[in-house]
Amino acid sequence: MFDVVPILQQHQLRRTDCREQVLRYFIRTNAAISHSDLEQHFDTFDRVTLYRTLETFENKGIIHKVVDDSGAAKFAFCEDNCHAPHKHADSHVHFQCTQCGKTVCLHKITIPFVKLPEGFYAEESQYLIKGTCDKCEILA
Ligand SMILES: [Zn+2]
Ligand SMILES: [Zn+2]
Ligand SMILES: [Zn+2]
Repeated sequence: MFDVVPILQQHQLRRTDCREQVLRYFIRTNAAISHSDLEQHFDTFDRVTLYRTLETFENKGIIHKVVDDSGAAKFAFCEDNCHAPHKHADSHVHFQCTQCGKTVCLHKITIPFVKLPEGFYAEESQYLIKGTCDKCEILA
């Protein structure tokens, strides 16, 4: 089983059962996870604990927000070098599959540079591509 303890230590986080299990779930799932996914998967933890865990992970640069058209806030594991609070380095494209409904990080595909008009300053950007993923390709 994947050892998540070094990741928690690296981000100066105390080990808790909830943190370890949620982190393991993020790494294993390899797709964006919503609050309700988490609640369904972990009925042993209460909602507040799960919310706080997500918040902590996002602030620490362990997971990042993923925007798709489901209307629900989703999060995925950060593979890029995200360390300092609110300094996420994730600038990759997200892909939402219209067949299986999963939204995944395309870590190697960087969001194209967009030149903004004068006076506009970007803080973050989201880039979503919809279509058929590699797992559904054969069935499509
Ligand atoms: Zn990140
Ligand atoms: Zn798919
Ligand atoms: Zn991502």
